[in-house]
This record gives sequence, structure tokens and C-alpha cells, in this order.
Amino acid sequence: MKRLNNIPVKNGKVRIQCSNCKKNHYYSVAPGTRKKIVRCRKCSKTTYCIFNHRQQHREACAVRAEVIIHTTRKIQTHLCNVSLTGIGFIVNSGTLRSFHIGQQIVVQYKATYGKNCTRKARVANVSPDRIGAQYIDISIS
Ligand SMILES: [Zn+2]
Repeated sequence: MKRLNNIPVKNGKVRIQCSNCKKNHYYSVAPGTRKKIVRCRKCSKTTYCIFNHRQQHREACAVRAEVIIHTTRKIQTHLCNVSLTGIGFIVNSGTLRSFHIGQQIVVQYKATYGKNCTRKARVANVSPDRIGAQYIDISIS
């Protein structure tokens, strides 16, 4: 049986392409379902599917974060993207001046699956719509 990993779930649905007849079908996936064997509605070939319910870009857009600068000053932000190497966030124009390239910051946020994340990072770029920072610690997640 063909196995597909890391299939993104969108609005409770996945699109699976049959490995045999190449026909695309949509299937419903319940929120807690991590894997499922689906059967092609055309040729009946089965595929073993492993789902990815977490989509970083969607997750990040809804996440509020706190950025700590000068050790004690906390600034409320929204994350706009999270990657393995860094983080992007949005601040209001009044606090934008508090950031500069090369500055060391601490970012704290709660991931949608409930885990608190604290990362040290260095500011790599500053623009009105996004501040980008690269992690300088070792991943603790
Ligand atoms: Zn098929």
C-alpha cells in the first residue's frame, strides 16, 4: 500500500491523489485523526495517509506573542510567521522605534497546541509591517 506523509488538513478536509489512477479525491478528516487508510472511489486502490493538522502559517497568524527587549520591557506583538530558523512579528508603529537590527530579544508565545515557547533571537530586519529575527538559541521544542 502506498503511504503518504504529512498531508495538510484544510477545513477538515484533505485532497489525496490516488497512486494508481491519479484521480484526486477529497476526504473528511476529524480533528483528532492522525492517520487513516483511504480507498480511491474510482479504482478502489487504498492509500495509507498520515495527516498534518498543524499548518505553521495559519497557526502563526492567530498567535499573540510577547517580545522582551532590554531584559525587562515587554511588548505585545502578533506573530506573522514562524520557521525553524527564525520568527517574524508585527508591532504597532509606536513601538517600532524600539527595535533595531542586531538587537537581542526574547520571544514568548503559546503555540496552538498549548505549549509555551520561549526563544532568544537577534533582530535581522525592521520594517513597518514586519520585524524579522533569527533564533540564536538551540531549539528547545
Ligand atoms: Zn484510483
